[in-house]
Amino acid sequence: MKILSNVFVCTSGNNLELADISFDDKIKSVRKITELTWDDISTNEKKQRFISEIESKKHLQRKDTIYGNYLLAMPGAIDPHVHFDTPGFEFREDIEHASIAAAFGGVTTIIDMPCTSIPPVTNLENFNTKLQAIRNRSLIDFAFWGGIGGNCFFDYKKNIFELREAGIAGFKVYTISGMKEFSDLTYDQIKSVAINLAEYGKPMAVHAEDKFIVTSIMNERIKLGKNSWQDYTESRNTKAEVFAIKKLIQIAEETKVKMLIVHLSSGESIKLIQQAISNGVDISAETCPHYLYFTSDDFNKTEIRNYLKSAPPVKDKSDKNQLWKALSENQMAFVSTDHAGCNPDNEKISENFWEVYGGIPGVEHRVPFLFSEGFLKKKITLEQTINLLSTNAAEYFNLGMKGKLSAGKDADITLIDLWNYQIVDSKKMHSKGKYTPFEKVKFNVVVDKTFLRGELIMDLKNNFVGKIGTGKYIKSEK
Ligand SMILES: [Zn+2]
Repeated sequence: MKILSNVFVCTSGNNLELADISFDDKIKSVRKITELTWDDISTNEKKQRFISEIESKKHLQRKDTIYGNYLLAMPGAIDPHVHFDTPGFEFREDIEHASIAAAFGGVTTIIDMPCTSIPPVTNLENFNTKLQAIRNRSLIDFAFWGGIGGNCFFDYKKNIFELREAGIAGFKVYTISGMKEFSDLTYDQIKSVAINLAEYGKPMAVHAEDKFIVTSIMNERIKLGKNSWQDYTESRNTKAEVFAIKKLIQIAEETKVKMLIVHLSSGESIKLIQQAISNGVDISAETCPHYLYFTSDDFNKTEIRNYLKSAPPVKDKSDKNQLWKALSENQMAFVSTDHAGCNPDNEKISENFWEVYGGIPGVEHRVPFLFSEGFLKKKITLEQTINLLSTNAAEYFNLGMKGKLSAGKDADITLIDLWNYQIVDSKKMHSKGKYTPFEKVKFNVVVDKTFLRGELIMDLKNNFVGKIGTGKYIKSEK
């Protein structure tokens, strides 16, 4: 058994306790030494004062102790929306690179999307192909999304049944998709799938932008030879997201499916979702760091313009503020990354914005981002930050052993240094494609160490990386 001594653990709100955590592959106990609040240690000076008072009393020191160094311990972060591209699109990203990047970002479990691997995870055979390809190649634990694309719609009932048995976390569908291998569904098809998923209580994740609105503007602009970032963002406008969300709320209401709107970008959309929730509809939303930090004005910066492209695109300042407000009011399920990398030297260089690959590799930056921009800037509490990064996803997707620092759970522990800072440098990223719109942004937080089921898999100061293959497939329990 190991003991991680002298770590701060969040108990509620901005309340903490100084504790020792005992664990092997599971957490055995969290032993409280003393209680405190964030205000007691919120600056380096206050923290030093706190430590010298504690150390003058006593604390546990044994041979098998890992010194926690008075850092914050949180349950290993879970990123429920990533595209790690193995197998199939590994010229963009692969599970080795991405899982190492995740560990450096304090992430111990990801849920990989079904659409950016070949074959896509649309049936049991394809699921097994992907599991074989990833097995022994991941540093962190992984769960899978299944999906229903237009190209395999005819067999969806059989596939949902079999994939659910295999422990798939949920099912993804698109109202609009640019992918040949995984095409979009009509609203009627989405409703049919929703009826089926509602029987099992399985989540349905939806990419929500109305296809007709987007493609009619896009086609008109392309015909006129217009190809700027404005043309792109005007085609994927707020109206397109709002129109789709209205349709989807109706579907969720009628079918009682557990619906998740992924990468929500606009304030108007979150208002509609809040209203639906208060009417008893089982609908939730996630958003991503880029929607919480950038606005469309940032496309004027040529050095990050192409790196910031995503679908939907980032919106305006008022949208950003409303997303933060929703997080502070516990009106969103989680903050995910939609991690989607590429080789920037090939796919991020076009002057024609339609041709630029859309996707941001964010798995390494999400945890420091949310602590720095959310918690330290007092937009959300410490407890909310941890819920949005870990606990909520474990509960939502029934990953029973994850998401909490309590006895019996997997010893997935991330140590966060809230008294240190980093300046984002893409050259130091661990994902395959080394680029980010967050280049040169300062995060007042550093992820110090990551443990997966009791094993140290990342130690920043010693530049230590654990053994590839340590990660295993995690089944959703329901
Ligand atoms: Zn995605």
